[in-house]
Amino acid sequence: MEDSKIEWCDNTFNPWIGCKNVSPGCDNCYAACNPYHGHHWKDNTRKDMADSNWDKPRKWNKKAQNSNTAPKVFCGSMCDVFDKKAPAGQRERLWDSPCVRIVVAPSSLSKETI
Ligand code: SF4
Repeated sequence: MEDSKIEWCDNTFNPWIGCKNVSPGCDNCYAACNPYHGHHWKDNTRKDMADSNWDKPRKWNKKAQNSNTAPKVFCGSMCDVFDKKAPAGQRERLWDSPCVRIVVAPSSLSKETI
């Protein structure tokens, strides 16, 4: 999502949606309460994202390069990038995306043990 309402970032990018409650720190998970996507937490399922979603980091990256800006992208506001149940191939796709390699200050949070 471009122009996120989260104070400390400019955009959010989700390579998939959904993760699991892994600790007491997840008890009040804001994502699990999301009216559109919360069922992925209840069902322990993951939503694959369309190619158009994957194009966003490239567009943001190009825009940043053209305007000499450095937007902060929160990668994984609705998932855990180290989720062992991530959709097949999507973590590898993420590692190859500008969200991780080029867009400035990618931010990812995880509680998974790797
Ligand atoms: S790891 Fe984060 S997104 Fe996943 S259930 Fe816990 S608080 Fe929610």
